[in-house]
Amino acid sequence: MANAPVAHPTSRRGEKVWFNGKILPESEARISLFTHGLHYGVGAFEGIRAYKQKNGGGAVFRLVEHMDRLVESAKILDLKLPYSSEQLVQAALEACRANHFEECYIRPIIYTADGPLGVNPGANPPIDVAILCWEWGSYLGASNGARLKVSSFIRPHVNSSMTKGKITGQYVTGVLAKREALGAGYDEALLLDTEGFLTEGSGENLFMVKNGIVKTTPLTSILNGITRDTIIRYFENKKIPLKETRFTRDELWCADEVFLSGTAAEITPVREIDGRTIGNGANAGKPGPIASMLQRDYQAMVRGELPEYGKNWLTSI
Ligand code: PMP
Repeated sequence: MANAPVAHPTSRRGEKVWFNGKILPESEARISLFTHGLHYGVGAFEGIRAYKQKNGGGAVFRLVEHMDRLVESAKILDLKLPYSSEQLVQAALEACRANHFEECYIRPIIYTADGPLGVNPGANPPIDVAILCWEWGSYLGASNGARLKVSSFIRPHVNSSMTKGKITGQYVTGVLAKREALGAGYDEALLLDTEGFLTEGSGENLFMVKNGIVKTTPLTSILNGITRDTIIRYFENKKIPLKETRFTRDELWCADEVFLSGTAAEITPVREIDGRTIGNGANAGKPGPIASMLQRDYQAMVRGELPEYGKNWLTSI
């Protein structure tokens, strides 16, 4: 049975945005139709979450790592970002405070701004930098386990798609794959690489468990997810073996457990892939023990309830 369709996930939007160094009402932050990045997809973004903390107030999870990745995306695009990672960290906190949000999703975006509209934006194109916030619940809306479909769209070759950048134009493949999966009654798409091995979802990294060993796809053709990194360190601490290795769709179908990870999707267990129920026996079609433990501990970690992870990973708003 398909999960009920998810309502448009944007709930309360922050009324204020941080735009090129200033906090403005969102209604006043407007851009030109001559914006280069709008025409050619030259831009990059981040998706970050802030959570209410056990001891009060809000804090942003792994904010520094997200802003460092944004700075790297700009480098990949050969754009000269007018702000440092530290300045962007402060800007994100300002945007949260301006909206009185303690728990929200934070979306920094950079793009080639109003300028000449040829493919070539010039040697030193103007860059806009904006940070928006909104309240955003569960992304995949599938708390009892998501249903996935291997997509007919593939992750472009690594010489075409710069996978270490979270680059706006590159998301078109993901949008097509996601809409194809939803149209077929599934919750999310899985994309293969050019050789037919699994990579990731349209907005999540992918993990499988078989006989107590956790596997996740290698960094070659995926985004270096910050949640993925959090999970790798978590399993290291728990002494649960984890391998970064390629796998095929039939290996995935036969896994004991499958789950997705991402800032928006957090930890989402998977109950079905391409019409095959994931798991065996009493666990068939249900979140398995490793995914359930991780899901619970991830929620505790981001709320400051597991101090061994919180120290360097939570930035108070
Ligand atoms: N892969 C893709 C394609 C994504 O868009 C995302 C979301 N940023 C992820 C993986 C997960 O990354 P993270 O854990 O850093 O949110």
